[in-house]
Amino acid sequence: MILLKILNKTDIKTEHFENEIKWLIRAFYKNEALLTESEEEPRLSVDITMTEDDLKISISKAGESFSKEESWDIKKDKEAKDILKRALYKCCNKESGRDLPWGTLTGIRPVKRMVSMLDSGKSEEEVFRIYKEDYYVSGKKAELCLSIAKKERELLNDIDLKNGFSLYAGVPFCRTICNYCSFPSMAYSAGEKDMEEFLRAFIKEAEEVSKMLSSRKLTSVYIGGGTPVSLKAPELKEFLKIITDNFDVEKAVEFSVEAGRADSIDEEKLCIIKDTGADRISINPQSMNEKTLKWIGRDHSPEDVINAFRLARNMGFDNINMDTIIGLPEEDIEDVKNTFRIIKELSPDSLTVHSLAVKRAARLNTEEEYKESPDEELLFMMMDEGTKASKEMGMEPYYLYRQKNMAGEQENTGFARPGKECIYNILMMEERQDVVALSCSGSTKIIRGDMILTAPNVKSLKDYIERVDEMIERKRMIL
Ligand code: SF4
Repeated sequence: MILLKILNKTDIKTEHFENEIKWLIRAFYKNEALLTESEEEPRLSVDITMTEDDLKISISKAGESFSKEESWDIKKDKEAKDILKRALYKCCNKESGRDLPWGTLTGIRPVKRMVSMLDSGKSEEEVFRIYKEDYYVSGKKAELCLSIAKKERELLNDIDLKNGFSLYAGVPFCRTICNYCSFPSMAYSAGEKDMEEFLRAFIKEAEEVSKMLSSRKLTSVYIGGGTPVSLKAPELKEFLKIITDNFDVEKAVEFSVEAGRADSIDEEKLCIIKDTGADRISINPQSMNEKTLKWIGRDHSPEDVINAFRLARNMGFDNINMDTIIGLPEEDIEDVKNTFRIIKELSPDSLTVHSLAVKRAARLNTEEEYKESPDEELLFMMMDEGTKASKEMGMEPYYLYRQKNMAGEQENTGFARPGKECIYNILMMEERQDVVALSCSGSTKIIRGDMILTAPNVKSLKDYIERVDEMIERKRMIL
């Protein structure tokens, strides 16, 4: 157990600091409880004292202590936070002997920060140096970040970020619920009885929101979830029609539908997606190993994924993404190699390699077999397999994001062949354009200078149906 004590003798509010401090400590000490009060003797104590001029951090354990003192100007809020994180990183690094691949960059979007540095006129060499020397990011990750930042600037060059907007709509159902799932999705069988009311609420929201946005140009559309194709074919048709009836999708640069799980994909549904005008779909195996798919609660085999992929290709889909997850329980390097070997044979147009992030809500987090994080060395090797496979398929990394509780403190990376990148993913993950979200659990984000205004939709289907007017008004307030 780790005991954290913060003595703040300044006027600043430390809530924001505290979260970042906790994220950083947790990143170093993955499997230990972090408490701010305890009557038990902790294994490790982290003491932080902040005054107007000085910062003192010390980490102590039986007979040993590592400490660091820095002077700072607490009025320069952001700089002060960076100084604190750097000092804390140094202490934890000394005590644990560990390096974190992303250094002090916990809780932030590493590419977004780099893009804004490049936009402000800093050279590539300068930002690379800052990432390595000031944020302690590994050379490999700093390089990856730089190549994505450059790509992103190139891809967004012709997009009207300010006047355009992107649209997200989520289908809150899946055939069954995977046991690593941290999305608020429900089994289709449990929600089916409310389908009519759900679609009625969705029409109302789409109609009202489209009026609010009538003077703005739609850049990209993303239909996600849940699993959109978990709907029955007529329901899927209606859901997509509500989008096309209310938004000018033909003018958008991209229209993606996350077909998702192979157990819900069939020819009729793919036909509906195609007829709607969607030009990018995602078929997500996560793993191509039968035992893993069973373990994570997916109701399909690797052959089902192969068949769904081939079906979509034969129907003319020429922009298909596949999602994979690294760090799944019981998977060794040979399993991961097998997944990427089959994916290479299928040859999708883009590939997303996720590092497993288990949130507290996910069932997996409570399973005995998954108490310990997978071995870090092994995770690096597995991530490298994804990178290698993407290269062999002629893809380049084009977006990246990090979450809390990621296996091995890694990242999620999107790779794509040139011209097959998902613009929506960049706009949304990097917070580069207003994203308006419809349906359960989506969150609308409106960018106003350095500020981001958010209007989250409720997560439960019942609440969404009952409170759709409130969801509309939330958006009206910030639009
Ligand atoms: S398909 Fe995705 S959203 Fe659905 S249960 Fe599995 S992880 Fe959750």
